[in-house]
Amino acid sequence: MALSGIQIYKLLPQTNCKECGFPTCLAFAMKLAAKQVELSACPYVSDESKAKLAESAAPPIRLVTLKSNGYEVKAGNEVVLFRHEKTFYNKPGLFVRVDATSAVEEINALVAPADAYVTNYVGIDLKLDGFAVDASGSGGAVTPEKFAAAVSAVREVSHMPLVLISRDPAIVAAGLRAVDGEHPLIYAADAENWEAMAALAKQHQAALVVTAGTLDELAELTEKVKAKGVEDLVLDPSARDLSGSLILSTQIRRLALKKNFKALGYPLIAFPKTPAAAAQAIAKYAGFVVLDGFAPELAYPLLVLRQNIYTDPQKPIQVQPGLYEINNPSPSDPVLVTTNFSITYFSVANEVESSGLPAWLLVTDAEGMSVLTAWAAGKFDSERIAKAVKTFGVPEKTSRKQVVLPGHVAVLSGELEGELPGWEIRVGPREAVDIPKFMKQAL
Ligand code: SF4
Repeated sequence: MALSGIQIYKLLPQTNCKECGFPTCLAFAMKLAAKQVELSACPYVSDESKAKLAESAAPPIRLVTLKSNGYEVKAGNEVVLFRHEKTFYNKPGLFVRVDATSAVEEINALVAPADAYVTNYVGIDLKLDGFAVDASGSGGAVTPEKFAAAVSAVREVSHMPLVLISRDPAIVAAGLRAVDGEHPLIYAADAENWEAMAALAKQHQAALVVTAGTLDELAELTEKVKAKGVEDLVLDPSARDLSGSLILSTQIRRLALKKNFKALGYPLIAFPKTPAAAAQAIAKYAGFVVLDGFAPELAYPLLVLRQNIYTDPQKPIQVQPGLYEINNPSPSDPVLVTTNFSITYFSVANEVESSGLPAWLLVTDAEGMSVLTAWAAGKFDSERIAKAVKTFGVPEKTSRKQVVLPGHVAVLSGELEGELPGWEIRVGPREAVDIPKFMKQAL
């Protein structure tokens, strides 16, 4: 838990020597609490105080990063329970489970399409994050060699990060050797195998899942594993039903954030068996989600859900301002104007595109606001529109000397005529859905 300025002040020498550049220790403490200065600016802080201040500066939920071949999946570092309090930062990684008992051809057939899957949502490419190779599959016992072969089969078709699933240290060791130099996640250390698993995690710089039947046992185990020098831990509280996993996930998050309970201050892993459980895991509060298989019809809603939950609600999704071509327009085709709020842009662009009519779409920089909001906030006015016309070369690329305003800002047409002398200012419909009809009948 971060310390207040007064709490930090109590840990400082309180001599007001000014060497840090501030007139008093209290002034320095206040700046330190606001994270505007570095502790190293004071040369007189005791080692004991340094340790306390470093601990208080650590995030309540540790950031755990999996790495492979240029890919990274980060989980943790969250500081709030609810998204309306502050942004959620590190999107939970979505992993597809691969049965290590499968034949190499079957593994390739599962992994290749999941690896290649990408879907565009309001201008953002969304993808899955990795694969979880599971030795507990239904096809019989897995030897270390078979597990390593399954891991290598995944690597043949995907470079994304891996979770290696087995409670047997010998099997996990074989998997780790197959991806030497990467930073995968091992599942899992329990009351029986934790020493061997901790040794493997430390040796291979892997993150390690710790699992137990109760929160008390889980906390006790994380402390033991941490004492062995493994810091990057992930928690599996073992509940698999909807209500049980929701309760335990929420308790762990509350304990970490509200009580600063370090033993449970780690990201969670979830193994949802249904779409509802997967959605719940994304919303509350998994850092890694292992899906039972790959299906585009499940991947799409989960990726979109995740994108929406992990988007700063105060920062609208934006598209790049500019002059966009739709349906291969010629210079004599109409120029429609809108703002750079993603949803506004895609509403207009999709309507025009699906109409088959060619047009230019002039997207102005309205700081990501929709038309009416931007107009009310003074971010979408005649001056800005005229500036965009010139900046993005509308007079050079088109010949009509005409722009079409959104119907909601018809009030701007007079002013815009003043800003663009000799241009015709038309007022289009209020709703994007009416644009094709307007273009056919009025342009
Ligand atoms: S350098 Fe340290 S002791 Fe001196 S005023 Fe700054 S905080 Fe206080």
